[in-house]
Amino acid sequence: MLAENIFLKIINKEIPARIVHEDEHCLAFQDIHPQAPVHILIIPRKEIRTHADITEADRAMLGHLHLVAARVAQEQGLTAGYRLVVNCGQGGGQAVPHLHVHLLGGRAMSWPPG
Ligand code: 5GP
Repeated sequence: MLAENIFLKIINKEIPARIVHEDEHCLAFQDIHPQAPVHILIIPRKEIRTHADITEADRAMLGHLHLVAARVAQEQGLTAGYRLVVNCGQGGGQAVPHLHVHLLGGRAMSWPPG
């Protein structure tokens, strides 16, 4: 079972987060346990549990998340490149049941991921 949706509390400003971008569709904030010098989570305001739950109605919002990720990556100075990750479901390593894109950078990335 996935844990509770702590990101809703961040969206609703019930718990603090180091927010680097916020607009009507999404928030981007620093991960509490960074796995790289830059580790930012980009999340939609809309409650979507996993990547497997996206629908046609989410098309524009999903594109927006990517545009925000690219803009934040630029703002963070990730000129050497970066990695975007979406973990989906328990088997995909997802812990928080609210769709999110990890933006990781500032170090060399290896492949395959763990
Ligand atoms: P997942 O494993 O679900 O793809 O990633 C969830 C991410 O959320 C993890 O990298 C974890 O460190 C981060 N995280 C969990 N709880 C909090 C929190 O309360 N605040 C912030 N900023 N990040 C969190």
